[in-house]
Amino acid sequence: MNPFQYERARDVAGAVRSVSPRSKFLAGGTNLIDLMKNGVERPEMLIDVNRVALATIDSLPDGGLRLGALARNADTANHPLVRQRYPLLSLAILSGASPQLRNLATNGGNLLQRTRCPYFMDPVFPQCNKRAPGTGCGALDGFNRMHAILGASDQCIAVHPSDMCVALTALEANIRVQGKSGERTIKMADFHRLPGDTPEADTNLKPDELIVSIDLPPSPYAAHSHYLKVRDRASYEFALISVAAALELDSGGAIRSARITLGGVAHKPWRPEAAEKLIAGQKPSPSLFEMAGEAAIAGAKPYRGNAFKVEMAKRAVARALANAEGVA
Ligand code: SF4
Repeated sequence: MNPFQYERARDVAGAVRSVSPRSKFLAGGTNLIDLMKNGVERPEMLIDVNRVALATIDSLPDGGLRLGALARNADTANHPLVRQRYPLLSLAILSGASPQLRNLATNGGNLLQRTRCPYFMDPVFPQCNKRAPGTGCGALDGFNRMHAILGASDQCIAVHPSDMCVALTALEANIRVQGKSGERTIKMADFHRLPGDTPEADTNLKPDELIVSIDLPPSPYAAHSHYLKVRDRASYEFALISVAAALELDSGGAIRSARITLGGVAHKPWRPEAAEKLIAGQKPSPSLFEMAGEAAIAGAKPYRGNAFKVEMAKRAVARALANAEGVA
């Protein structure tokens, strides 16, 4: 690990004042410290924000919920209001990592997780445009079983690793951030980026901005939602494919509105709005959910090692929707 300076911030203003392009905020550290140990991240200064008062979970006047950026993932998933109003989010968080990691990892840090592409994680590999821009992409013709099938570029085919972010995208969360020029709100759908020609940037967060909260709007989906995660082993594993599915049903049982978001398929949580529109206004049925699965992966482009993901994603969407319908 490289030498670095350490500073502890007492409040948001102090944290933002101290930040520079060569520093990083330290919260749970469950991803950042690993990356520093293996030489992928080399900040000159860590600004520890763990004592900044951003760990509460509070109701909003409109019926939504404000999740503090420093609330721990475990506390968020198990919070009574999250379980009651956003069971989809609770399920998604609890499907990620391990209990020990969830006890330490924060909500803000979860959004800023970096890809687990093995070429990115190990500096021994010379080719990785995300870690070292301009060096190429080792995964394109290499080991790409876990990689993207949607929204990739010839510069990077990595996927975003978070489960929580898949649910937050389906729930249309808003991310409040504070920087040197003030506060702003970023829609969850715009928070992460597709790789394009600049895969080194995972998000649209500016270098001086600190995430302060994740705001959830009121949700009509609490009664009918499901998070389905398909992975190589039952726990402590990243998704091959995941699906956040949520249905709002009318009194006759027809679908008033739907939300579908996939994880494990792209550089950001992937929301196929065409599939949502396709099933809105329809009576739920297995064939309808299969059509939604087909629509959800429109434009998919697999690579040598991950063609199986196309069929898997299609079936996962259909099953997640069926489970969402049946959970009330
Ligand atoms: Fe690097 Fe992205 Fe290619 Fe992985 S997929 S090697 S992260 S450029």
